[in-house]
Amino acid sequence: MKKQYLFSLVFVFCIAFLFQSFYAEEGMWPISEINKLNLRAKGLELDPKEIYDPDGLSLIYAIVNVGATGSFVSPAGLILTNHHVAYRYVQAASTKEQDYIKHGFLARNLREEIPARGRTARITESYRDVSDEVLSAVKEEMGFAERTRAIERKIKEIVKKVEKRNPGKRVEVAEMFSGKTYVLFLYAYLKDIRLVYVPPRSIGEFGGDIDNWMWPRHTGDFSFMRAYVAPDGSPAEYSLENLPYRPKRHLKVAPEGANERDFVFMLGYPGRTYRHQTSHFLAFEEDVRMPYVADWYAWQISIMEKMGGSDRSIALKHLSRIKGLSNTMKNYRGKLKGLIRIGLVDKKRDEEKSLKKFIGADEKRRSEYGDVLEKIGKIYEEVREQAEYELILDYLRRSVNMIYFGYSVYEGSLELRKKDLERESAYMDRNFALTKQRLLSTLKNYYEPTDKAILKEMLKRAARLQGKSRILAINDIIKDDSSEKAIDDFIEKAYSQTKLKSAISLLEALKKSPKKLKKQKDPFIELAAALYPAYQKLKETQKTRKGALDGLQAKLLDIKKRFYEKDFIPDANRTLRLTYGSIRGYKPADAVYYHPITTADGVLDKTTGQEPFDSPEKLIDLIRSRDFGRFEHPALKSVPVCILYDMDTTGGNSGSPVLNARGELVGVNFDRAYEATINDFAWSESYSRSIAVDIRYVLWVTQKYGKVDYLLKEMKVIK
Ligand code: ASP
Repeated sequence: MKKQYLFSLVFVFCIAFLFQSFYAEEGMWPISEINKLNLRAKGLELDPKEIYDPDGLSLIYAIVNVGATGSFVSPAGLILTNHHVAYRYVQAASTKEQDYIKHGFLARNLREEIPARGRTARITESYRDVSDEVLSAVKEEMGFAERTRAIERKIKEIVKKVEKRNPGKRVEVAEMFSGKTYVLFLYAYLKDIRLVYVPPRSIGEFGGDIDNWMWPRHTGDFSFMRAYVAPDGSPAEYSLENLPYRPKRHLKVAPEGANERDFVFMLGYPGRTYRHQTSHFLAFEEDVRMPYVADWYAWQISIMEKMGGSDRSIALKHLSRIKGLSNTMKNYRGKLKGLIRIGLVDKKRDEEKSLKKFIGADEKRRSEYGDVLEKIGKIYEEVREQAEYELILDYLRRSVNMIYFGYSVYEGSLELRKKDLERESAYMDRNFALTKQRLLSTLKNYYEPTDKAILKEMLKRAARLQGKSRILAINDIIKDDSSEKAIDDFIEKAYSQTKLKSAISLLEALKKSPKKLKKQKDPFIELAAALYPAYQKLKETQKTRKGALDGLQAKLLDIKKRFYEKDFIPDANRTLRLTYGSIRGYKPADAVYYHPITTADGVLDKTTGQEPFDSPEKLIDLIRSRDFGRFEHPALKSVPVCILYDMDTTGGNSGSPVLNARGELVGVNFDRAYEATINDFAWSESYSRSIAVDIRYVLWVTQKYGKVDYLLKEMKVIK
């Protein structure tokens, strides 16, 4: 009996230990909150001030925004990020003859590094709350659209003022809580970023779209880039005389990696989450927007794959776009499945019912907040009614290159003649170079047969819109008959006449006045001019909605705070955040348990020789020879490839360093498990798991496969 008692006690202690050692918690915490988290008690061995200290040289200086995230891993500006983050620059540098996507890219010295044109890098230097200043622009009597415009204008003014005081820096004002709090971030801003080492696709993208958003994973999704500055240390565009940037801090890599249950944390730039949205928003996403977009992307992917089928140089033009579309499409499908699986919309509705009860129970609350949820619901009813019209209008410009070119030129001719602060943000002085760069890189990948096919499909979809949803500006093109002849005729003529296919004429056109443009009689500029009023109206509608929703969301947050008696953290918005947790497996389904570390042996198991499971021979030989050296996991007797953990991440966290309790880099985040695609709407301790490439695999591949010893020396992994 006594023995049995003792046994139970030990058992209870073990279970308690098991649970106690995981400190998973929802939260992409703004850096201003780090001190409140009591991270020491949860496993951090550093002083939290080492992570962020407004007056010191903390770790945040090693974290860099390169579209997604990266981190400095040497004093000479070496950046470690994902293969998929560097991908489009690798594609841009590749030709059929010199296919860096296929074979990988290695610069043997600084001179051989290739510029990643258009890539910039931002490093957070400081932040301050500017809510009062921003909201001072809003006046009681303003309408909703006017309110949105006033806030946008005020933000532009603040940004301009602060950038003027801080030459070379970049300033962004981020909305933290809609219509309520705004924070100004000051960034160091680097404009010369180069490719250093990128493994071949068959390592960096091993498993491709089939394994994307999946665990177990065996993808070596990493790349090295380097930031450069002018010889005097100031940020500068690419130039041969530039020198490697010297970051204020860089991360130490930990070649011994991490183990199951280890405490880890992450710093990065998560893109967008929607956790504070209501059931109306979620239901719209579930019923309308995500299914539509997933279907539209699937259509585009299939056409692009067909076009690139037999010619590598054509395929290369489409690769990056296909990758982006597939990534979003699978993510949406995962989310749609997840929404149903956990019944999130119903859960939200129940939550809102309780909230309404709470509001209704008090006269004052009733009068102040009584109609907030209904009003939000009404806005989403309107959004639903107009959804197809708005989606088609939006994707006409986004998916069809020629409309994008024509529209940018036409809009530019109007915007560039306004005063800087009055322009649309893409045409403001601080952004215009990037806008041009974006146009040029789209043009570089332009492939006419694909563009024609996409436009034709869009026009056919537009032709099905009836009544109020009809896009009047294209009525003459789509006609009312279903023969498609009018569409075909328009397309043939327009593509043969347009001059926007060459970079020179595109840039020339961008400088022209509306009058001169008109004389040019380019079919896509004329189409843009015809569509312009519809886009203007759409913009106005969106501003009206935002203005209305901002006020309502702000109220909702107030009352939710009172109801739950707690504060909330803002949704992700591309600003620097910290999340923490531990290396940990999970149960994705009944009777299934996923362990949190995969190994090189799994790479062999998955290798079929067929894309995307076509590991290079040399890698196979290296794994078979079991030459793992110091990168071997002592218990697993193999080199770990990927790790899984319960931190709270989303898109934009790609490339974020996974850090151990001492703040050393043990992995590079690149993805989430399928069940965690829903993180953007809701996080759960039981299934929200994210994925990193293990630092041991990064180093092992770099050293043994890439033979890039100098990088390991630069990171002080070897002497
Ligand atoms: N692979 C992802 C991305 O595309 C990372 C994530 O969303 O977790 O950004």
